[in-house]
Amino acid sequence: MERVFAAISGDFETYGAVEKEGEVLFDRVHSLAEVSENRSRYAPKEFLIRRNENVLYLEEQQRKAVFGIKSCDLKGFYLMDRQILNRDPFYTERRNKTLFVNYVCNTPCEGGFCSSFGGPVLDEFDIQVLREGNDYHIMASDKYDKYFNGCRNDDGSYFTDFKRKFNTEMPPLKVDGLESRIKWNSPIWKEFASRCISCGACNYSCPTCYCFDLYDDGDERKREWDSCVLSGFTSSSAGNIRNGLDERLRQRFYHKFVYFKKSKDEFLCTGCNRCVEDCPVGIDIKEVITHDYSNE
Ligand code: SF4
Ligand code: SF4
Repeated sequence: MERVFAAISGDFETYGAVEKEGEVLFDRVHSLAEVSENRSRYAPKEFLIRRNENVLYLEEQQRKAVFGIKSCDLKGFYLMDRQILNRDPFYTERRNKTLFVNYVCNTPCEGGFCSSFGGPVLDEFDIQVLREGNDYHIMASDKYDKYFNGCRNDDGSYFTDFKRKFNTEMPPLKVDGLESRIKWNSPIWKEFASRCISCGACNYSCPTCYCFDLYDDGDERKREWDSCVLSGFTSSSAGNIRNGLDERLRQRFYHKFVYFKKSKDEFLCTGCNRCVEDCPVGIDIKEVITHDYSNE
């Protein structure tokens, strides 16, 4: 694996999850040993979507390789691809020049539910790594096969067995048909709204949320991460089509579990649980999945 890292670093600027000041954050790395196997504090969205940037110019990007991204966070990019790849030039320029080396979690994280959405072993990846002690099990897409000369080929059965074992430890939630079960007039939206303080943390922490606001700032035109839960979202000179917080929260969950599913055949969630961890009032997206809508 160290040889692989060295070969990749000849072609890419290397970044990785690193332990820093008591947290796991992404930073420049120059050796495999620096890369943490723990999940980063924040979803690494900023590799592809900057929190705030001037969109009047598109700068050419360096080729980057990012080691240690967790599968749930990487899946967020594959979901975003379905909506914005080849449409958003900023995202597309960075996406096409970034190689992700995702680390598959050996054991379920607290609260996580990635198994509900196909994780933690992904079907789409650049280079996928599952470490057990000193052994590295690796799957590489054809594009990056060249870095694995001299490694032994596995038929993938190791990953299949691992996934079966992982799913017994993290039983998937029932998500089949959720897009039809969920109810527009469910009291759950008002119940969430009675607690929500409209801070937007759930969107900012989410590896699948890509909405942004656009505004002029002097001679720059900025775009900035936005949140569908904030009162200004979808506000226009004609008013706001979603004045109520319950309506805005419903929009958030409908986008993830109904609209995206119907248009892209995927749920816009990876089960990372970041929105739950960062919500100051304990609103849990898993309740939207497990709620009984049948009598509403
Ligand atoms: S669990 Fe929450 S933060 Fe994670 S992908 Fe789903 S909606 Fe986004
Ligand atoms: S993180 Fe929680 S309190 Fe903040 S906007 Fe999201 S649901 Fe509301």
